[in-house]
Amino acid sequence: MVVINRQKSVSINAPKMCQPIGAIWATLGIHGSVPLIHGSQGCSTYPRNLMARHFREPIEVAVTSLHEKATIFGGASNLKEALANIITRQHPELIAVITTCLSETTGDDINGIVKTFKLESKGYDEHTKIVAVHTPSYVGTHVLGYDNAIKAMVSQLAKGKTEPNGKVNIIPGMVNPGDVLEIKHILCTMGVEAIYLTDISETLNAPLRIPKPHYPRGGTTVEEIADCANSLGTITLCKNEGQSAANYMQEKYGIPACIGELPIGIEATEAFIGNVSKLSGKKTPDVLLDERDLLVDAIVDSSQITFGTKVAIFGDPDIVLGLTRFVYELGMEPIHVLTTLESPQFATDMQKLSTDYGTDSAKQNIIVGGDLYDLHQKIKDTRVDLIIGDYKGKYISKDEEIPLIRVGFPQSDRFGYQRKSMIGYRGSIQLLDTIVNAIMDLRDK
Ligand code: SF4
Repeated sequence: MVVINRQKSVSINAPKMCQPIGAIWATLGIHGSVPLIHGSQGCSTYPRNLMARHFREPIEVAVTSLHEKATIFGGASNLKEALANIITRQHPELIAVITTCLSETTGDDINGIVKTFKLESKGYDEHTKIVAVHTPSYVGTHVLGYDNAIKAMVSQLAKGKTEPNGKVNIIPGMVNPGDVLEIKHILCTMGVEAIYLTDISETLNAPLRIPKPHYPRGGTTVEEIADCANSLGTITLCKNEGQSAANYMQEKYGIPACIGELPIGIEATEAFIGNVSKLSGKKTPDVLLDERDLLVDAIVDSSQITFGTKVAIFGDPDIVLGLTRFVYELGMEPIHVLTTLESPQFATDMQKLSTDYGTDSAKQNIIVGGDLYDLHQKIKDTRVDLIIGDYKGKYISKDEEIPLIRVGFPQSDRFGYQRKSMIGYRGSIQLLDTIVNAIMDLRDK
């Protein structure tokens, strides 16, 4: 049964965040970048707090600090002053001007203000690129903010077609640094070079070395983004986080867009590797075939434990879709599946997946655009053995005494989750181990 919650006028414990968080995330994957929130101070403090607790890294976010005066007369002078200050003091490679509910409602023309700033500022030498990102948070969630930001980066920084670079563009989506490292491992093993749009594997999981660099090492360079129109094609790991940029590049530069499904488990990882092979012409090496077969072995070895285990899954649509396919591969039964983003595509994909695996639709709840109150009520009606999702699921977990498998963002009350991976064959094995051990603990009680 598909439930789309449009009638509710209030959300209770909604597992979603606002658009600027997705845009900050995308920006921090670029080397030497500064996200600049054009809004009130809380719009930068809240994302910093949440991200610092998940990544255990300092999250530097500037803010134009709009108050009453700027709200009434416009925030142009705040934005220009902020840009001048950041360029003078931080010398960044890139500033992403990220709008908020407030600046979108007052209607500040950030593209126009940036243009005027460049013309008026004698000291502006074009070294620092400035990208305008629209993230009105009364629409969509952090997922849309990430998608909007990647498209803004590509459309405002890509220089157009010159020399083919033989690389593949990869848009990872909002996955952990550990996940991006896993994708890098797969591509490196296949001998394929890539431009990551963008790459948080080091910027949000940086080694501590003294003297500490002003900007963390790693991240995609502005030059790499400028070159992305010369790539062989673009692969997105998520449908909702990166599709707009991939389609834009296909339409504008004629480079193919492969809109993927998050590579968790056997089928989705094979599809991802297939897309890399299709674009690059490289075959799957034995190392990856061995990793695949290790996952197959782990699935076979654990099948008596996982088979028939009932599970509830919630989170971002792409993560939920990937996890659902994976638990089907493990022989489990996804009884309740919830995402907060009102995505018709998600509902269609989930229904197809359920049909492919022969699920009785009367026994399954697919909730699109819901919150954790909805999920809790469904779990009270039909109990499950496990819940998979972010840390907010702990309230249901405690009330109902059902184990929570922590996957996704944020994991604010645990340590080390940014290093974990659920992607590729190796990440799937790690996730499988966690799931199987949780079921074994359950049976031990
Ligand atoms: S929802 Fe709007 S007002 Fe609240 S933090 Fe996000 S951008 Fe700011």
